[in-house]
Amino acid sequence: MRIRFWGTRGSLAKPGPSTVRYGGNTSCVEVRAADGTLIILDCGTGAHDLGRSLVASGVHPIRGHLLLTHTHWDHIQGFPFFAPLFIPGNEWDVYAPQGLGQRLEETLAGQMEYEYFPVTLGQLDATIRYHELTESAFDLGAVQVTTRYLNHPGLALGYRLEAGGVAVVYATDHEPHSRHQPELADPAQLLPVHREDQRHVEFLAGADLVIHDAQYTLEEYPSKLTWGHSPAELAVDFALAAGVKRLALFHHDPLRDDAALDRLVESCRRRAVAGGLDVFAAAEGQTIELAERAAVTPRAARQPEVAIAKGVGAASATILLVDDDPDIVRLLTMTLRPEGYRLLSASDGNAALEIARAERPDLLLLDWNMPGRNGLDVCRVLRTESDLDLRNVPVVLLTAQVGAEDTAEGFAAGVTDYVTKPFKPAHIRSRVHAWLRRKRAGAKGT
Ligand SMILES: [Zn+2]
Ligand SMILES: [Zn+2]
Repeated sequence: MRIRFWGTRGSLAKPGPSTVRYGGNTSCVEVRAADGTLIILDCGTGAHDLGRSLVASGVHPIRGHLLLTHTHWDHIQGFPFFAPLFIPGNEWDVYAPQGLGQRLEETLAGQMEYEYFPVTLGQLDATIRYHELTESAFDLGAVQVTTRYLNHPGLALGYRLEAGGVAVVYATDHEPHSRHQPELADPAQLLPVHREDQRHVEFLAGADLVIHDAQYTLEEYPSKLTWGHSPAELAVDFALAAGVKRLALFHHDPLRDDAALDRLVESCRRRAVAGGLDVFAAAEGQTIELAERAAVTPRAARQPEVAIAKGVGAASATILLVDDDPDIVRLLTMTLRPEGYRLLSASDGNAALEIARAERPDLLLLDWNMPGRNGLDVCRVLRTESDLDLRNVPVVLLTAQVGAEDTAEGFAAGVTDYVTKPFKPAHIRSRVHAWLRRKRAGAKGT
């Protein structure tokens, strides 16, 4: 498997003398498997040079797969400048997480409307197929792809690519779920306490290369909570916990010049030293070869079609909002109402249980500290209900308790997810999307 970085910058392209070594273009990574399968991870401004190089190679038609983590600008701005899309006969499959309401094709067409761009999506001459994904697993050629939701203010997917015994994970635009931030990598605490952080470690497990969001430093992070990006030091901790071989720091902050990135790499290497983890900062133009070793055992390919989400949105879902603070209920209502959900609310634990039994919601957003029966009590009762749907309903606990012990107590009470206050509306929106999608996938038995 050959990996080449065409864009490593996060948020905003930042060309110039101060970023000349690590690069100024936004996210775009080329992956070529030994069987020739071509996968492009994200389509930021780095896709411009990649597209030119693919066309210059003289291969025609060009057949490839474009996996988008999400459709924030820095991950799609290279799309209208990606030359292979303009050439008849080329075939591209474009994948991204399924959102609500708007289809992927419409979202990508949005940035190419007349007011923004002279060529519309419909004028691209290649054959382009659009696919919307949830958490799933499927094959592209010899490459086994696994997708996993990340923690970001827009619903984003990470991609794990495996071929010939080699594994590469691309996890950018992600921040840790837990607010608990160790100053130093603590070997005793490497397995995180938050279930979603544990799932993230599983997703990275044993990878030969992890390309991970590392936009901030640990020092900067407190002022960037809920922005959806990781401090580089915590990316190191996750990679150590997952037994990863090499970690590429990625999605560099536009304000971080080459010298500052060098210093960040040095401090990450000191943090990683005991774990035998190789840490570097991804640089534009850098190529990494990972020798595919095991002979691939022939087996039936899992078609992408089975992984592709059907229909638009989950707008018919019922969500129960429970908080004794009317301002929080109001904020949640304002955040979720435009999505078309059916919203119910309660201001104490007993009322919440009564409404849950009567209405059997698809998801609960539940405050921990309330007068009377608190959120944890409500969750414990739900987990003993005889109605299976109610017993298994996803419960997102909303709490200001940040400690590791508190988080552990929440999960022990049966909560599905633990979201720390204060949170931003976009953050809640993407967590709600993720849980409703997972619930649906579970209901389908996939
Ligand atoms: Zn980004
Ligand atoms: Zn983003």
